[in-house]
Amino acid sequence: MPRQRRFALYAAFVAFGLAATAAAADDGLDDGLAALIDRAAPGVIADRRWLHQHPELSNREFETAKYVAGKLRALKLDVQTGVAHTGVVAVLRGGRPGPVIALRADMDALPVVEDVDVPFKSTVRTTYDGQDVGVMHACGHDGHMAILLGVAEVLAARRGELPGTVKFIFQPAEESAPPGEEGGAELMVKQGVLSREPRPEAIFGLHLFAGYEVGKVGYRAGGIMASSDDLRIVVDGKQTHGAAPWAGIDPIVAASQIVLGLQTIASRQMDVTEAPVIVTIGKIEGGVRNNIIPDRVEMKGTLRALDEDMRRQLHERVRRTAESTAAASGARASVHIAETHAYPVTWNDPALTQRMLPSLQRQFGARLFEARPMLGAEDFSFYQQQIPGLFLFVGVRPKGADPATFASNHSPRFTIDESALKTGVEALTRLAWDYLQGRTA
Ligand SMILES: [Zn+2]
Ligand SMILES: [Zn+2]
Repeated sequence: MPRQRRFALYAAFVAFGLAATAAAADDGLDDGLAALIDRAAPGVIADRRWLHQHPELSNREFETAKYVAGKLRALKLDVQTGVAHTGVVAVLRGGRPGPVIALRADMDALPVVEDVDVPFKSTVRTTYDGQDVGVMHACGHDGHMAILLGVAEVLAARRGELPGTVKFIFQPAEESAPPGEEGGAELMVKQGVLSREPRPEAIFGLHLFAGYEVGKVGYRAGGIMASSDDLRIVVDGKQTHGAAPWAGIDPIVAASQIVLGLQTIASRQMDVTEAPVIVTIGKIEGGVRNNIIPDRVEMKGTLRALDEDMRRQLHERVRRTAESTAAASGARASVHIAETHAYPVTWNDPALTQRMLPSLQRQFGARLFEARPMLGAEDFSFYQQQIPGLFLFVGVRPKGADPATFASNHSPRFTIDESALKTGVEALTRLAWDYLQGRTA
């Protein structure tokens, strides 16, 4: 499948490349958007700085929501607040009939103490999971919101000639809701953000990434970010003296065999030519002292895949491997997958990707690249389960910075070259504009 997809994409690339070259002279990008984007750019930076200095954790984006809603109301959009806790949804109806699309930005910050020396540095503190923590936009969601506000400004300025409707989705809790709460894209979908009128037929989004240089825009058809399912395995044995193991059942040895057995799933049980999968055990707990073989061991981990079918296979094999390995020694393994955290694959619809590729090429030229998939997860995937969606990566690493040492997303030293914000506005404006115009190959 991926090989066919890649071939189709390559063929599309060639065909579109030729078409774009032929059309470049009369069509190009001279549709007035560039000037509007330039005009919006300083405001986008100012918005990002305000949001950066006022970060809020997942499902607590109260001031953030007020700020965003105020800006959208000033643009005379139809604004709804309190969606999925603190989400904001705004509708821009164009002056001409046409399709409905959605653009999405996420709103939450992380429990991280900022270690970047900028005038708009965050000094916010709050309580998270019973601990006193700093709060920082360490994943760039401040930039995502500022970009989307900029896109709203640009498209609102041209609303009379806009053939269709744009739904702007500002979504809380991408980094996952606090324990015991619902939230994020999953809750937005549940509350009807895609099924209520106006109902979008496609959705676009992006993520700022430290891994790529500023100015670069990455796309990929199919899985661009992984599914993420939490894993908990409880191994029950029978407690006994450490000097008389035969009198009990040792769950520590069984758990050790399970850990190693799980690593053979990726290497021996899955078709590695399709896409990679990851099984990670990050926590093992069991026993109280050196000479007692305990009753029980509990392990926690995470499972990643880039294809929903492989994700299902992975779950099945983790269960089988853990249960059968434990059974071999008379122990019992109970496997719990996706109890508290489960994000689907961020799957860029191949047809939509192919359709929008010429637009991205016209806008970005050589700055556009086919990105390798990332095995991190994104809850944008929940929208893509409902309607075709396209998710892009936008680079933020300053030119000349060393990729090996430049701070990654989620680091207390995460920072962005703010000219990336304009690139983000260009990407989403271009996608929305061209999609609504029905511009295709
Ligand atoms: Zn993040
Ligand atoms: Zn993020």
